[in-house]
Amino acid sequence: MIGLVPTMGALHAGHLALVERAKTECSPVYASIFLNPTQFGPNEDLSKYPHPLEADLEKLTNARVDGLFLPPAEEIYPPGFSTYVHVEGISERLEGKSRPGHFRGVATVVLKLFEVVQPHFAYFGRKDAQQVRIIQKMVRDLNLNVELVVCPTVREADGLALSSRNSYLSGEERRSATVLFRALQAAEMELSAGMRDTLELQRVMRRILGSEPRARVDYAEIVDADRFEPVVRAGGRCYALLAVRIGSTRLIDNMLIQVGDEVVVEL
Ligand code: AMP
Repeated sequence: MIGLVPTMGALHAGHLALVERAKTECSPVYASIFLNPTQFGPNEDLSKYPHPLEADLEKLTNARVDGLFLPPAEEIYPPGFSTYVHVEGISERLEGKSRPGHFRGVATVVLKLFEVVQPHFAYFGRKDAQQVRIIQKMVRDLNLNVELVVCPTVREADGLALSSRNSYLSGEERRSATVLFRALQAAEMELSAGMRDTLELQRVMRRILGSEPRARVDYAEIVDADRFEPVVRAGGRCYALLAVRIGSTRLIDNMLIQVGDEVVVEL
C-alpha cells in the first residue's frame, strides 16, 4: 500500500508524526515537498516562507521515507495551466474567507499530488481541520480512490501547535503565541463544566485572546465538524477554531469537541 504525506517543507515534528504514522500502515511511504503558489494570496508570505531543503532531506532520511516527490513549480503548473478544483460552500468560510482562493489552491494541488503519486492512503494533520474536511469532500465528490488518515496536532511543551510559521515569531511573540492554546483550554474547562452555549464559549476564548496585547483575533468560532457552519449549541462533533495574528504572524489552532453523555475534546 502506498502512503503519501504531502507537505510544503520546513519540516517539524508535526510533519514527522504523519510520516511515522504512515510507516506503521503503508509501504512504501512517500513524502512530497511543494511550496504551492496557488494557495497563497498576493499579500501573503509565499516569498518569505522558509525552505530549508537540506535540513528537510535529512529529516526525511532519518524518518526512513521511501521516496520524496519534490516537483519544480513548472511541473505542477505548466504554461497555460487553467484547471482548478473548487469545493463549494465550506471553502468560502473561515480560512477561506480570510484567505480568498486559498482552498482552491489547496484542493487543486492535492488532487494533482494524488494523481501523480497514486497513494492508497494520504496523511494529513488535524491542525488544519478545515483543509482536511475540504479534501475529504473532494475525495468523496470526485470518487478519488484514496483513504485519508487524519492525525492529531503535535504541540510544543507549552501547548503551541507546531507550525512552519512559528519560526517568524520573535522571542516575545513566541511567548505570547501560547494564547491560542490557553483560549482553547479555557473553552474546554467551560465545556467540562456543562456550558454548551457557543456564544458564551466564544466569549471565553475571546476574553483570553484579548488579554494578550500582541494578539489580534481574526476569528474565534465554534462550528459543526461537517460543514463548518456556526452552531448555537455545542453538540455532536464540532470544532472550536482560532485564527490569530501575533505581531505580523498569522497562526491557526483548533480543538475537536465531541459531545455525547460526556464531552471529549482533542487538542
Ligand atoms: P504544511 O507543510 O503546513 O502544508 O503541512 C503539511 C501537513 O502537516 C498538513 O497535513 C498539516 O495539517 C500537517 N501539520 C502541520 N502542522 C502540524 C502539527 N503541529 N501537528 C500535526 N500535523 C501538522
